[in-house]
Amino acid sequence: ALSVPDKQVDSVCPYCGVGCQLTYNVKDNKILYVEGRDGPANHGRLCVKGRYGFDYAHHPHRLTKPLIRRAGVSKTSDFAMDPSRVMDVFREASWEEALDLAGGQLARIRDQNGKRALAGFGSAKGSNEEAYLFQKLVRTGFGSNNVDHCTRLCHASSVAALLEGIGSGAVSNPVMDVTRAEVVIVIGANPTVNHPVAATWIKNAVRTGTKLIMCDPRKSDLTRHAHRHLQFKPDTDVAMLNAMMHVIVHENLVDRDFIASRTIGYEELAKNVEGYSPELMAPICGIDADTLRYVARLYATSKASMILWGMGISQHVHGTDNARCLIALALMTGQIGRPGTGLHPLRGQNNVQGASDAGLIPMMYPDYQRVDNPDAKARFEAAWGMPLDEKPGLTVVEIMDEILAGGIKGMYIMGENPAMSDPDANHARAALAALDCLVVQDIFLTETAYLADVILPASAFAEKTGTFTNTDRLVQLGRQAIQPPGEAKQDLWIIQELARRLGLAWNYTHPSQVFDEKRRLMRSISGITWERLEREGAVTYPCTTDDDPGQPVVFVDSFPRGLGAEKGRARFVPADIIPADERPDAEYPMVLITGRQLEHWHTGSMTRRAGVLDAIEPDPVALVHPLDLEALKGRPGDVITIASRRGEVSLYARADDSSPRGAIFVPFCYYEAAINRLTNSALDPFGKIPEFKYCAIRVRLG
Ligand code: SF4
Repeated sequence: ALSVPDKQVDSVCPYCGVGCQLTYNVKDNKILYVEGRDGPANHGRLCVKGRYGFDYAHHPHRLTKPLIRRAGVSKTSDFAMDPSRVMDVFREASWEEALDLAGGQLARIRDQNGKRALAGFGSAKGSNEEAYLFQKLVRTGFGSNNVDHCTRLCHASSVAALLEGIGSGAVSNPVMDVTRAEVVIVIGANPTVNHPVAATWIKNAVRTGTKLIMCDPRKSDLTRHAHRHLQFKPDTDVAMLNAMMHVIVHENLVDRDFIASRTIGYEELAKNVEGYSPELMAPICGIDADTLRYVARLYATSKASMILWGMGISQHVHGTDNARCLIALALMTGQIGRPGTGLHPLRGQNNVQGASDAGLIPMMYPDYQRVDNPDAKARFEAAWGMPLDEKPGLTVVEIMDEILAGGIKGMYIMGENPAMSDPDANHARAALAALDCLVVQDIFLTETAYLADVILPASAFAEKTGTFTNTDRLVQLGRQAIQPPGEAKQDLWIIQELARRLGLAWNYTHPSQVFDEKRRLMRSISGITWERLEREGAVTYPCTTDDDPGQPVVFVDSFPRGLGAEKGRARFVPADIIPADERPDAEYPMVLITGRQLEHWHTGSMTRRAGVLDAIEPDPVALVHPLDLEALKGRPGDVITIASRRGEVSLYARADDSSPRGAIFVPFCYYEAAINRLTNSALDPFGKIPEFKYCAIRVRLG
């Protein structure tokens, strides 16, 4: 019978950064169902995406042959693709022809226009080995550091602040440590939707006495479990956090020993928060002074307090400042370096931590070794056998601008969909359409692939083996369960074939060979071998020797030497209030907040092709406060049109009081109502992250 699997393959969930381990139950190259496994992050639990979001791999829309754009067919920036027109736009090709064309065109642009005329976006959905090889291809085959991925759109500002303050961009403690904390602050995050299994651990902790403080302009499922919900006004994070620090300094709730022995810059920070009394900040952030004092005291005086945050913190022009405040809170109270304490920026994609670690970022080689550090450059030149570019590359949004400025003429994009995910998406699509050569490697004809010159059909998650690093710094093994359909190929093979056509003689025959090369260049994972991963399934880094069990809690004795930290000491960095780049006004009086839904993932290319998930949330929706909907004379289910200075979209209104009045929340997964047409590409100056969480809009019925 169809329901009886003929094999079971242990792997990892392909969606969020929690990194739940699961088992694929397979029959005749088809996944029948998925079960949770007893992994360190999930202990058998799975959310709806992990459990039911697997059949996209078998969807008839899968790309099964290489495609080449037909001569003379222009690149349209129209968002609504017509599937019946695909073969009018593209023709099928052999792998040989497609790879020769892609590699030949990229090589021609490099040779004629210089090494910085090319750029690449890798993927936080791919394995560590794919991320490593992709950035190596850009750095050695293209010849520049113009390589980035979606970390730029999620936690780049958090990482900038963490590297500057405590010398490491990763989390200090695993999610599971919430069960050891007396107080947990969750700020700018909605874990029930975005990290659902992590949310279950938080709820378990509350049940055993942990006090949960939710800080968010929006209500969410977890606010029902919270000891307090600080529903601060959008865009006022720094005001609220500085007020809490003001209380801690004034009431002498700081940890003097920790500050003296482990940090630098406290006096400057203390002086800066002097002007941020709760009374002054209350009208700005919308939280009364007594509550600010209460929460500050609670956090500072508990035996163990932990902070988790999401993109409500990071996706602002002041995202780095927001994170600096959270770091300062932990440092001034000594709430870091012990179980149940610390800082945890919840990583979004399943492998955004690993892809960043592997060097899929424009300013750093693997293990965050700066490309403009001569020693690091010499090390990688020796390892890779060729000279490297010393100039840090451009970031995601900068690359789009540089295309339109004429500086970048060719791109290779693997497994990302910037035509949907980039801010001001009309601008991003115009940039992609302006390229002389765009090579896209993906499993579906995404909105980005539709603008490509060459499309290379790749493998879905369950069709390949590789390592993935979750939000807890846990390196886990994902194993191949099924074969790719038709002529689709594994991503490592495709990267290598392109590399060969750019003059690189690579010959990796198994991902373990890539992993071995990588770990020789990355001290953080040098103690993790492929054999060990096969045996143990998961190992936390830092792990530097074969018998090192890995370190789930870091900064126990000292901080690493980072960009700002000195001699193992962490650095306080003060922050002042900087307003959003685009404030509401008479013309655009409301605020747009974008994010995800529980059932859909990012630009929806996978989950909207997963039967159960698509059935639950099939249509584009905007969450509108019931009173705002009433003011529009609208009702739930009515079509509304939302417009910003950059574009407009129409979608269904859902009455929802989770957002405050005047703020509308829209998921960014619906291509037919691509909300990133409206978002603002203004960047945080440090992390270069765009302001997805705030722009001015107006709304009308119909
Ligand atoms: Fe997958 Fe994240 Fe859900 Fe776990 S919580 S099953 S990793 S989407």
